Amino acid sequence: MRPEILFPLFAEIDSLPGIGPRLKPLVVRLIGGEHVADLLWHLPSSLIDRRFSPPLSETIDGSIVTQDVIVERHEPSSDRRRPYRVICRTDSGFLVLAFFNARPKYLGDMLPVGEKRIVSGKIDHFRGEYQITHPDRIGTEAERAQIQTVEPVYPMSAGVTGKTLIKAIAAALDHLPDLPEWHDAALQKRHQWPDIRTALYQIHHPQDEGDLSPDHPARRRLAYDELLANQLALALIRAKMRTLGGRSIAGDGRLRAQLTHHLPFALTNAQNRALGDIYADMQGSGRMLRLLQGDVGSGKTVVALMAMLNAVETGRQAVLMAPTEILARQHYETIAPMLEKIGVTCTLLTGRDKGKARQAVLDGLANGDFAVAVGTHALFQEAVAFQDLAFAVVDEQHRFGVHQRLMLAAKGTAVDVLVMTATPIPRTLTLTAFGDMEVSRLDEKPPGRKPVDTRVLPADKVEDVISGIGRAMRKGAKIYWVCPLVEDSEVLDLQAAEERHRILADIFGADRVGLIHGKMKGKDKDAVMERFAHGDLSILVATTVIEVGVNVPAATVMVIEHAERFGLAQLHQLRGRIGRGDAASTCLLLYAAPLGQISTARLKIMRETEDGFIIAEEDLRLRGAGEVLGTRQSGLQAYRLASLDLHGDLLAIARDDAKLILGRDPDLKTQRGEALRLLLYLFERDEAVRYFRSG
Ligand code: ADP
Ligand code: MG
Repeated sequence: MRPEILFPLFAEIDSLPGIGPRLKPLVVRLIGGEHVADLLWHLPSSLIDRRFSPPLSETIDGSIVTQDVIVERHEPSSDRRRPYRVICRTDSGFLVLAFFNARPKYLGDMLPVGEKRIVSGKIDHFRGEYQITHPDRIGTEAERAQIQTVEPVYPMSAGVTGKTLIKAIAAALDHLPDLPEWHDAALQKRHQWPDIRTALYQIHHPQDEGDLSPDHPARRRLAYDELLANQLALALIRAKMRTLGGRSIAGDGRLRAQLTHHLPFALTNAQNRALGDIYADMQGSGRMLRLLQGDVGSGKTVVALMAMLNAVETGRQAVLMAPTEILARQHYETIAPMLEKIGVTCTLLTGRDKGKARQAVLDGLANGDFAVAVGTHALFQEAVAFQDLAFAVVDEQHRFGVHQRLMLAAKGTAVDVLVMTATPIPRTLTLTAFGDMEVSRLDEKPPGRKPVDTRVLPADKVEDVISGIGRAMRKGAKIYWVCPLVEDSEVLDLQAAEERHRILADIFGADRVGLIHGKMKGKDKDAVMERFAHGDLSILVATTVIEVGVNVPAATVMVIEHAERFGLAQLHQLRGRIGRGDAASTCLLLYAAPLGQISTARLKIMRETEDGFIIAEEDLRLRGAGEVLGTRQSGLQAYRLASLDLHGDLLAIARDDAKLILGRDPDLKTQRGEALRLLLYLFERDEAVRYFRSG
């Protein structure tokens, strides 16, 4: 339960002045939350400084100035396209205030002839006149202090004005309770961090550009607050996992020896090293939670399989969970035949299974008939019970949240978890996403892979590309044609893909060209994939549904339209679908000219390397962490205040800090521990606190 002292910060934002029921949803969308605290995390991006009153001749067009004026005369306009003008005198010359669609009565009251006023706004000069169109502020001498201010400028959106935000955020600051300091005094002193109230106040009342800098102590303090909350939450979950205790699992190696005997290849050193780590974890008494990171094609599946067999050898069950139906099915099709050869039972469970068939699978899992199950998140629904689940592999985990991982862990008495990801997350980000979760990397590809020949071409070469794939097709090649992402619109994605499918089908024949997209039913997707992998289809037009994990070793050509619209990591994943067999492969990246500098750099990287880690690091450098881990797809929590490219140095400190804190005060019971609990709640890491309290 959230501590009472934080209640004011978790009031709904429409409790603040200026935010009513109409505005609320707009503000929520803008700031990414509905609580008062979310407003406090909405930081200004720039400021407007109204302190300057230069002589008119020294003003710069487009700059904000404040001027003392005497109103000379009003010049109403008869033509709606021309502004109502108020001519004013200043010490340094005449200044025209211009108003379109003016209300003469209102202007007459605001700017009485002969009176002194203070006006502030953006100045321009043309036709020999200095002019402020629609001044931002007009007031009397008595109001000078409210006019000649420095005001923050917040990121805005349609319908939410700066004024609204300034008012609401000022009120939000008033709601800030007196919070105890949770940071280590020495650390705080070393970095000269202000307390949180001062920090928030400074950030929302910037006095100059320096106050907006990500290096400002106030900003760094808040970034650190957030990073520490996150690291602490991860460390708590991790510590909990350890104390939950696991069972020591060490098979006799009999099944693994048989499998090795059947494999047409020897494991790479990297695979053996990873398995060494995994077996050691499984044998240990704690509960395993390890991340297996390996680029596409690095051979994670067989590692998972061996690890599962280790559990099966002890008479227990193991599961492999994939994020999508297609992937689950594909894993099943790869794994089941191998298991069959060595006499291990295996079943598939996805959301598509219904009725009797599903019941039979459930029964088999409950009574232990199936030693291994492959499936989607359907595997951890309430109704699914296992006889004795000991080991779970979660593939492509970045699509699952921590929460699901925990649910899965709840299915067995002590389930060891291996998380596999093909996303080459840079080291810095691994830390933020997984805390100090143990990591094994497959940093070596199986031998014999042919490099993919990647070329970058402008979109107007598409006719040449089509003739090229025609030639490849006649030589028996299988070709992926990936269609562009259209911003935020699955419908438009689909239209583009359908259009391309129609064009290619016209040229090469409808029986040779297939289409697959996210809106299709699972069964239909399978059927198309099957025809592409083993049947008559030579070309598969696809939206990004093929991105993750699809395995058609015969595919040797990939065309990606509007490659500039994809993220680098995504391009890398896509390209990983080819170059899986013995034949040489080609990837053609088509782009719409003209290309910006960053896009050019990104496509160049794709041409130059196939190393997912280099690509990921570059991606991080070019785009910043937020986008690399794009919250929506990744399910990883994004930061509000910290920016990993700007505050990356704080991350390692936060991790060590979190470790130290829990080392000394594992139950967060000291005075500082109590304060740190507040920090966790403040950044909505409630889950971690709950978890920690429950045991
Ligand atoms: P990913 O890491 O992308 O899941 P996979 O497990 O699908 O990679 O493996 C890609 C391909 O490499 C598969 O066809 C697999 O059989 C093969 N493979 C895996 N390990 C080796 C190895 N040690 N030597 C040769 N081929 C291997
Ligand atoms: Mg895989």
